[in-house]
Amino acid sequence: MIAIDSHAIDLDTPLEGVVGKKSADLLAAQLEIATVGDLVRHYPRRYVDRGKLTDLAGLEIGEHVTVVAEVVQATLRQMRSRRGSLLAVVIRDERGTKLDCTFFNGHKLLSLVKPGVRALFAGKVGVFNRKLQLTHPQFEPLDDDDEIRPFLSVYPATGKIASWMIARCVRQALDVLDDPTDPLPESLRRREGLAELGRALRRIHVPETDTDIHAARHRLVWDEAMGVQLALAVRRRAAAARPAPACPPTPDGLLDAFDARLPFALTAGQRAVGAEVAADLAREHPMNRLVQGDVGAGKTVVALRAMLQVVDSGRQAALLAPTEVLAAQHARSLRAMLGPLGQAGELGAADRATRVELLTGSLGAKAKRGALLAAQSGEAGIVVGTHALIQDRVGFADLGLVVVDEQHRFGVEQRDALRGRGERAPHMLVMTATPIPRTVAMTVYGDLAVSALRELPGGRSPIATTVVPLAEKPQWFDRVWRRVREEVEAGHQCYVVLPRVGDDKADDDDLVDSPDDAPDEGADGEVDARRAPLAVLEVAPKLADGALEGLRLGVLHGRLPPDEKDAVMRAFDAGELDVLVATTVVEVGVDVPNATAMVILDADRFGLSQLHQLRGRVGRGSAPGVCLLVTEVPAETTARERLDAVAGTTDGFELARLDLELRREGDVLGALQSGRRSGLRLLSLLRHEEIIAKAQVYATDIVSTDPDLAGHPGLAALVGETVGDEERAAYLDKA
Ligand code: ADP
Ligand code: MG
Repeated sequence: MIAIDSHAIDLDTPLEGVVGKKSADLLAAQLEIATVGDLVRHYPRRYVDRGKLTDLAGLEIGEHVTVVAEVVQATLRQMRSRRGSLLAVVIRDERGTKLDCTFFNGHKLLSLVKPGVRALFAGKVGVFNRKLQLTHPQFEPLDDDDEIRPFLSVYPATGKIASWMIARCVRQALDVLDDPTDPLPESLRRREGLAELGRALRRIHVPETDTDIHAARHRLVWDEAMGVQLALAVRRRAAAARPAPACPPTPDGLLDAFDARLPFALTAGQRAVGAEVAADLAREHPMNRLVQGDVGAGKTVVALRAMLQVVDSGRQAALLAPTEVLAAQHARSLRAMLGPLGQAGELGAADRATRVELLTGSLGAKAKRGALLAAQSGEAGIVVGTHALIQDRVGFADLGLVVVDEQHRFGVEQRDALRGRGERAPHMLVMTATPIPRTVAMTVYGDLAVSALRELPGGRSPIATTVVPLAEKPQWFDRVWRRVREEVEAGHQCYVVLPRVGDDKADDDDLVDSPDDAPDEGADGEVDARRAPLAVLEVAPKLADGALEGLRLGVLHGRLPPDEKDAVMRAFDAGELDVLVATTVVEVGVDVPNATAMVILDADRFGLSQLHQLRGRVGRGSAPGVCLLVTEVPAETTARERLDAVAGTTDGFELARLDLELRREGDVLGALQSGRRSGLRLLSLLRHEEIIAKAQVYATDIVSTDPDLAGHPGLAALVGETVGDEERAAYLDKA
């Protein structure tokens, strides 16, 4: 027994005095568990019924398992090549399914691992002699457990510290822990019917009934949801409290002139979101708004109208794109939309005209100097560039608005960096073409107010998507290229998209750079044998000499010099090229209405949302679009299911939800966290939508009266536990 003064034990108590030095060291080294709080927040992964044996069928190679089983046979053998003995054990489950286990130093265990003994076995499932086996598993006889409890808690464990060792430490800690003060306000707990923290912690580790488990989990999910939502509410509040340049609409300004020359009527969604943005910009505190809308929903017009309102107030706007190609394209399309309104300083400019400057790292020295000067002097009302624009601290005369064409690559922290450290923050408008499931919007984008463009402007043609499964239908490959020729003969243009550029350097448009979206190659355990993904530089010449001979082919990827990229895009835009063989640089923004077909090779290498983005490049004119997803992956694999899903729906929201389901959620939530270990163990963006939504309301409410949680130390601590202390420190600084 370890003697301790029970009054002194709370969640912050270091473990050593509670579980002993040896266990404390192991927990710290193996699981980064240092305090009583860390330990009791290390929840069981699952529970096994004490009276039942675990099903041994369906174990998977490589899996780390903890099972309750009965020993049927134990044979001691001398090892041939080494000294010592080996205990070959066969264990079985209720149905009689058997599994081999091998223990080294067998003679020591012979008296414990006897036929008829029921025990916990934990280890990694391997293969020996073509049979599954556990090699030297950790082992704990059940009978040694003197307490009678219906459930055994199974903990996330490692090879060095078994689940039941953790369980024992947890029980020691719970025995001496005073019930912690519950950080959740009592009113909230009562309204939502939540168990008290102390009770929930005890019940999740040592449940007596199924109901205990559910109630405890439910309460602890709330802790995590509240931790996340409070962190975000504090952020929102701090960001909104900074002063910003008020840019109210100017009657008869550039914006009005622009609206008057728009060749189409705005959709209802564009009008509604436009009004929200206009009102935000008029305030003296920064707008922090996300506009999400499917590919082609018309976000650019919304952004441009916001920028014009800011220019009308005598300030500047910056538009940031993820790549240089896109920045150049944005600059081009903004100039085209503005016409004479964007030609300040040129012949034929309108009276109130402004200027759009493109400012990217690869501009020639002279052009760059000119652009920098235009930004500094305020001559350029709109400056378009990549994210480097802000990181390089380009001087603006008076920057009023930053528009980020975000494309999934930005997290909460990067957005903070863009908001700048100065006293005054610019307004911020984030645009994303990937529809965002509600829970993701409330967490990963929780620092932003969200608007959505849900309808597409009229006159769009439907896109027909077809999977071309080369594994079963190799002859379809020729048909793909015949189809491309038909489109070209009908006067249209086509894209051929591939996952890789093709020389050996890593490049920012190689697929490997989008970890949050790229398929998880390990998922099916079929990583090894895959050939390298097809590459633009290898396939383009073959097409030019083969299947697409005689057509005018262009090549586009991120590693081309910028002027060349620009030239290629212009040529495609002008109809001087029939086919563009490209990487995902065409993913966003590219807008050539005459392009009607897209062939995506090695389509299985792309993420769901990415495929959806890509195909949004065709069918932008009046002719119907076709998208062919070419793959060698055989039928009835997850990869093929994903492609079928893309072919089966054009609903971006539905695909975004599926994407979330297939992706590891941790990657999504990971963007929220800093610090040493994840505080999010139970919260799921798929299953806990209701809780997250309610927590957002409570959190906003609490923060509205207590902006830095100074009056709620328990909640402030909860934020630290959930999203990390660094995060907490960062926002406390700002608040
Ligand atoms: P995205 O949301 O993908 O950025 P864009 O802003 O590029 O979409 O718009 C796609 C195309 O639709 C552009 O050619 C744009 O001019 C056009 N467009 C935008 N709004 C409308 C509208 N209300 N009616 C008709 N066409 C529109
Ligand atoms: Mg766009």
